[in-house]
This record gives sequence, C-alpha cells and structure tokens, in this order.
Amino acid sequence: MKTKFTALVAAIMLLAAVLAGCAQPAAEPTVAPTQEATAAPEEEATVAPEEEATAAPEEEATAAPEEEETAAPADGEKDTIVWGTNAEFMPFETKDSSGTVVGVDADIAAAIAEKLGVELVVEDMEFDSLPAALESGKIDFIAAGFTRNEEREKSMDFSDTYYVARQVVLVREDSTIASEDDLKGLKIGVQNGTTGDLYFASEIEDADVQRYTTIMLAAQDLAAGRIDCVIGDNLPIGVIMNQIEGLKLVESIVYEDESYAIATRKGETELMTAINEVLAEMTESGEIDELLTVYSTGE
Ligand code: GLN
Repeated sequence: MKTKFTALVAAIMLLAAVLAGCAQPAAEPTVAPTQEATAAPEEEATVAPEEEATAAPEEEATAAPEEEETAAPADGEKDTIVWGTNAEFMPFETKDSSGTVVGVDADIAAAIAEKLGVELVVEDMEFDSLPAALESGKIDFIAAGFTRNEEREKSMDFSDTYYVARQVVLVREDSTIASEDDLKGLKIGVQNGTTGDLYFASEIEDADVQRYTTIMLAAQDLAAGRIDCVIGDNLPIGVIMNQIEGLKLVESIVYEDESYAIATRKGETELMTAINEVLAEMTESGEIDELLTVYSTGE
C-alpha cells in the first residue's frame, strides 16, 4: 500500500516535471530520499507511460528493480522445490530397489525442503544435463557431488563446501601405471562432463578419453580390459572398488582437492541462505560425516 502510494506520488511528480519541460534529470533528487528511491522505481516503470520511462534517468529504470525481481519470485508461493541430480554416484546418490533416490545428497536435499516448508521433487538426469536444467528452471538446485569451480561459478551460485574430494586414478590390479607421465596416450574412462573429464583426463597429452554416462560403466569397461584407467571422484570410486574385483588405485598420482557444494541459479539469495543454514547444521552436528560412512559402507 505504502509503496503504491509513494509510487503514485513519484509518478505524478515525474509527470509534472516532464510536462513542465524540465530538462534536468527528473524527480528523483528532489522528491525522493534514498530509501524511497529503492522502493519506488519498480512501480514507476510500470505506472508511467513509455515516453516518461525514457525521460527518467537510466539508473532508475534499470538498477533497482531488477534485483528485486530476481530475489522475490515465486519461491515464497511454490509448495515444491526441485532437486536435480544424477543418481549414480554413491555415497552421494543412487536409486534404491524401490526407485527412491537415497544418499548423502538426498538427505541434504530433504533437509533443505524441510527448512523451506515445501515438498521435495527429484529430477534424476544425466550429469552433464544438470547445468542447463538449472538455468532453464527445470530444477531449482543441483546436489550431485558437484564440484565448485571458477568455470561453473560463471553461470551459477554455490553454497558453502560440505565435502572435500579429489580425483583418483583407478586401474586393474596388474597395471604398472605409476605416474602422470604414464597416462599419456592411454585410453582413459571418465563420466561425461565431470571435473575428471574436463580438467584432468582431457588435459593429458594424447589421451583417448572415453566418456560414459556413469562412473560405474567406465569402471566396468576398465575391468573388462577395454580401457586403461578411470579418473573419477574418490568416494564413488571407493564404493565401486567394493563392488568390482581386481581394481586398485594409483596411490602415487595425487591430484588437488575439490569442494562439493550445492548450486542454484544466480541471485537466489533466500534459497542459498537456507541451503547454507542446513549445511552448517548438518556439518556441526556430525550428521554429514555419519551419512558419508553409512552410505559408503552400508547399502
Ligand atoms: N565432482 C565431479 C564434478 O562435479 C563429479 C560429480 C558427479 O559425477 N556426480 O564434476
């Protein structure tokens, strides 16, 4: 109400200024103190006819309203939130026998929905489809053992870190691979679009990178002798090593740490605050550590 009234007054003042042939940058400086300036302009732009919008100083029309539009929308009214993941990545996510997605990220996602008081909907898709699905609004956040990095930060926002991971090199037990140099020219299996693919395997000289939809499929091809090694995230590879015999890690190749975090569209500050609160609570209580153990060893 108050905002509308202020807006109306501002609009009338603006109109008066324009009609008076006032060449100086319209009403804002004289009429509105700073606080009002932020509250008013959005309405002004809609209330005032086109010509006036052009007469008014540029910043008024563009600067303030946009932020309000991205911060405010639908979230408050929606009764669901959509979690995007690739449920082939234990201990972070997998489908149980009934088709329910379970894992560390599943419990985090459930806690986020609970905090927001909305129902959680899961969209399981190929890993490399997740960023576009987020961008287009098909999903609201990505939790997928998803590594935060500069490239991804260009198009999405990331939460605080909830797990520190690293890439490891998986080989058959009889392999003699012992250094990064030994990887040159080899057939290397990765999961498509992962950091193991884009920042590690693809950087190796003359590597013949084989891209799979899941890291498990890559490991199966490794066990079958069709590729020379697999580069992937440490915990999921650890889980796979408990399921497929005859594989080992190349302990002498150590890559740098990466941080798992949850991604949202840019500017979704309310959602991100809730996500960070959930992560802080679950980290401090020790729940995330517990879940990591349960889902790595159990199931
Ligand atoms: N952490 C890796 C990445 O973000 C792999 C994640 C995954 O395969 N789910 O690219």
